[in-house]
Amino acid sequence: MTDALESSSDERNLEESNNRILQFIEDVTTNAGQVQERVLKAILSGNAGVEYLLRHGLNGSTDRETFKKLIPVVTYEDVKPDINRVANGEPSSIICSTPISEFFTSSGTSKGENKLIPTTEEELERKSLYSSLLMPVINQFVPDLHKGKTMYFLFVREEAKTPGGLLARPVLTSLQKRSYFKKRTYTNPYTDCTSPRETILCTDSFQSMYSQMLCGLWYGDQVLRVGTMFASAFIRAIHFLEKHWRLLCHDIRTGTLNPRITDPSVREAVARIVKPNPDLAEFIEKECNKESWKGIIPRIWRNTKYIDVVVTGAMSQYIPTLNYFGNDLPLVSTSYVSSECCFAINLNPLSKPTEVAYTIIPTMAYFEFLPVSREIGVPEPNPVEVLDLVDVKLGQEYEVVVTTYAGLYRYRVGDILRVAGFKNNTPQFNFVCRKNVALSIDADKTDEVELHNAVKNASNILLPFDASLIEYTSHANTSTIPGHYVLYWEITQSSENPIPRYIFEDCCFAVEESLNSVYRECRVSDKSIGPLEIRIVENGTFDKMMDYAIASGSSISQYKPPRCVTRAPIVELLDSRVMSNYFSPKPPEWAPGHKHWNTN
Ligand code: AMP
Repeated sequence: MTDALESSSDERNLEESNNRILQFIEDVTTNAGQVQERVLKAILSGNAGVEYLLRHGLNGSTDRETFKKLIPVVTYEDVKPDINRVANGEPSSIICSTPISEFFTSSGTSKGENKLIPTTEEELERKSLYSSLLMPVINQFVPDLHKGKTMYFLFVREEAKTPGGLLARPVLTSLQKRSYFKKRTYTNPYTDCTSPRETILCTDSFQSMYSQMLCGLWYGDQVLRVGTMFASAFIRAIHFLEKHWRLLCHDIRTGTLNPRITDPSVREAVARIVKPNPDLAEFIEKECNKESWKGIIPRIWRNTKYIDVVVTGAMSQYIPTLNYFGNDLPLVSTSYVSSECCFAINLNPLSKPTEVAYTIIPTMAYFEFLPVSREIGVPEPNPVEVLDLVDVKLGQEYEVVVTTYAGLYRYRVGDILRVAGFKNNTPQFNFVCRKNVALSIDADKTDEVELHNAVKNASNILLPFDASLIEYTSHANTSTIPGHYVLYWEITQSSENPIPRYIFEDCCFAVEESLNSVYRECRVSDKSIGPLEIRIVENGTFDKMMDYAIASGSSISQYKPPRCVTRAPIVELLDSRVMSNYFSPKPPEWAPGHKHWNTN
């Protein structure tokens, strides 16, 4: 009786708390303009004395016009010297009046280099507030998730210290560690995860993945949603299961833990959960042993309602694989965040992956938008007008610029967004691509989206051969004269249905045909670009590439396979695993008449 009463009052509390959060979202999206003005004032008055703002002559002004007139729009490279001074031990007040508590090492998608992003204790609280917005939104579409568990794979990285002694670590590592050490007065009913903290905090990626997978399997039917931050890590988890299910089932059958798991705290945590369960082991074994792994996720985790993974931007290439393993379970991209700032949430979580639009949360930072044109031949407007959040136009694309509470002022994040609609007075954005992720040999510039579409078109040619593209990346190879685009493809193919050489050559040609007119002009008229090449790499190559990135400091959770590689060791790694290569047999179609933009 008391239990029943307690649980009905828990349910009521949860409903009230969810309603409060939804009301908060209504309020801030309705009053976006005023909220943004308040945010900017708060940032500028709080940081009135910082060296960076004084150097630009702001002298304590907090109004938007003066700020926009005096403070330049910058990239990471522009602010790197100031950030490095703080990292080397000079006072935080160079950039921020509140002490910088640590740096987030951003995965820096574009050049494979880590950036140091400053943060403060207060900013971390803001990130927690942002996280608390997600589940009440999802609960409107998928109720009762608090009645079961979440199998959400999380990984942490070893931490580094800057010369000045501040921690430098990925944002997710920081959040995981903080929540572990924080004294809890309240347990969020939506964060009942299958992975015990010790398995997440273990920095050995095999031990962490193995033990998280083992616990996830053990909880079986209690699991109501599965996921990781980005889709690539989730696919990695499923491949891990493909490789190790026999060992995992042995552990479930016997209630033991594989001796390769040597971390004592992980062993202890898993022992608290996993007890002998021969029936479950047999069930999992039966499913994994079947020839087809189609729908393996809902076959094993039978109560799973959706897969919680970001599948927008560079992650969209994983949608077919996730649909295969998930048997079309909804793929839910909940959030758009980065080390710099939490930007936006998806208020319509069950929308199709291709239609996902993220609604900016106006309290998170001061947001501005730099109009961009990815259309070939159209020059960037000059002088460029940087728009406020409430002034962006439907259908337009912008690069997002943020001013944070933690020392970044008018900072170009490098993401291109398109306005897809509005929630009250707040724009909702499709994630388009990372800026500057481009292949370029001559005057041509191929961005991530264009490349992705071209590769998608071309890879359809493989379908009649029961083959499909699993992963790809690209490289602008300038070691040949003229230079040419090289695509590395990892594919699945059936031994019964071998793919003739000319089919791969057709794929090369189809990619070229899909690329922009400047590319085709360079190929045909200027002959400044050579025939496009596809190199087929051994299966597992992209896993190796991820291993390499992780060994060089990337976090598994934040890893995004680069669509374009430039660093020599990665190109060498890919080249060492090439099984065959093919060139485009003829130049693509190009008709004179559309001259690309010329700055001379
Ligand atoms: P990091 O700072 O390493 O966490 O990387 C942040 C970057 O990841 C962002 O600037 C985006 O380029 C990308 N990203 C984050 N969330 C999403 C999303 N929902 N869809 C597409 N890309 C995203």
